[in-house]
Amino acid sequence: MQDTSITGGCYCGNVRFRATQQPIQQANCHCANCRRAAGAQAVAWITVPQSSFEIEKGKLKRYRTETGAIRTFCDFCGTSLTYEISNRPGEIDITTGSLDRPEDFQPTKDVFPDEKLPWVLLPHEKRAAITTSRSV
Ligand SMILES: [Zn+2]
Ligand SMILES: [Zn+2]
Repeated sequence: MQDTSITGGCYCGNVRFRATQQPIQQANCHCANCRRAAGAQAVAWITVPQSSFEIEKGKLKRYRTETGAIRTFCDFCGTSLTYEISNRPGEIDITTGSLDRPEDFQPTKDVFPDEKLPWVLLPHEKRAAITTSRSV
């Protein structure tokens, strides 16, 4: 039987993880908390059932945020890895950028677009920008 697990890990390679079920959702988050936590303009996530997620090696540092969420990152190199919050029990979000094949998990929606940085374009805006630049 073919292994369809989703695998990934951190930048330094100390942490490796696996999810054995397919994502419940794939989203690109523009909230200020994700931005600060990852040090990036936006953060793409996949959401999987928590029961299907396991750490295969390495140590995660757990950080409880002021919103009550748990964010984890590699204890050694600091890569942002997961997000859990009590109003979505049984689910865990994994940063799409830490997956081995992020290209397979394109976000299907943008969340917190109202907190988006003005210079970050949403997909429909990107298409418009490309069309505009071609027509000039
Ligand atoms: Zn690491
Ligand atoms: Zn967010």
